[in-house]
Amino acid sequence: MIKSIFSEADIERLRRIVEENSLFVLTCHAGPDGDALGSTLGLAHYLTALGKEAVVIVPDAYPDFLAWMPGSQEVVRFDKHREKAELMLAMADVILAMDYNALSRVDDMGPLIGNAKAVKVLVDHHLQPDAFCDLSFSFPQLSSTCEVVFRLVVAMGGFEVLTKAACECLYAGMMTDTGCFSYGPCTQELYIIISMLMQKEINKDRIYNKVFNNYSEGRLRMMGYVLYKKMRVFPEYRASLITLSREEMRRFDFNKGDTEGLVNIPLQMKGVYFSAFLREDTEKDLIRVSLRSQGTFPCNKFAARYFNGGGHLNASGGQYLGTLQEAIRVFEEALAEFNKP
Ligand code: 5GP
Ligand code: MN
Repeated sequence: MIKSIFSEADIERLRRIVEENSLFVLTCHAGPDGDALGSTLGLAHYLTALGKEAVVIVPDAYPDFLAWMPGSQEVVRFDKHREKAELMLAMADVILAMDYNALSRVDDMGPLIGNAKAVKVLVDHHLQPDAFCDLSFSFPQLSSTCEVVFRLVVAMGGFEVLTKAACECLYAGMMTDTGCFSYGPCTQELYIIISMLMQKEINKDRIYNKVFNNYSEGRLRMMGYVLYKKMRVFPEYRASLITLSREEMRRFDFNKGDTEGLVNIPLQMKGVYFSAFLREDTEKDLIRVSLRSQGTFPCNKFAARYFNGGGHLNASGGQYLGTLQEAIRVFEEALAEFNKP
């Protein structure tokens, strides 16, 4: 069994909140990834098994390669079904803020969550959470929000109640947030957790294939194009940069989520420890920034200083208001300045 990392008082408060309420609305950050969708759905399955009503609301679309997750078809998209989502947020007894640390990360849902009368509980692993919740489970030292969820369920004595469907969702988030257990905090206890999930007969190979061997032809060709034509390497800074314009995405029949993971690829190169990916947003007039590193290069500081963002040491993001060309220039100058001795 794994050790509880929570205070007994916090677990008791959570247990009470679960016991005394009936409508739970689970929310995650815009551009939901495997951990965001996995943690909200995983916890929703658990709450449903306890006889609660649990609704997952996401700010916008999640990628196709997550559509296999049990319960994903019932997820409410805020950008598509705003009225329904607003009603659920207003009616909720409890709102769970999962896999995000600030209301700015849920776009237009932010003020609605902030003003809702519900009890708010944060479940997350990002650094420096804002204080917008009544109860907070923030664990930046853990691999994923899914790991926090699993540990919470176990600490509340709920392991027996966890269904296979819940475990599949939770496993997916742990797998995607650690690049298949190759970076981030992959502790001994994380592997114990995986073995506990396997007790529930999850098929981890099937989950891997659903997520990683499920690309569209366009996506694979886009990867080839980006690496062949668009990747720049800066050996003196042990860094690389890839960029994509809207027009290029259109050319490859871009689907939401198709750029996910692209930023990790240049790190496979010998001598590259920092990878940046700048792309035009498909809807808004801004540039999305994704940063990844190996070792001690602080992506989060770089994102905060130059791109109005933040995140983890090895995986961060941000945005730039301006054109792609301007963002590229900012990046080049930032690279030189940041690496000054
Ligand atoms: P991605 O590159 O996948 O969009 O983001 C990687 C990580 O960077 C996210 O898990 C999140 O921790 C962080 N991140 C992305 N965008 C932002 C942002 O605008 N602000 C902050 N504080 N963190 C971000
Ligand atoms: Mn996460």
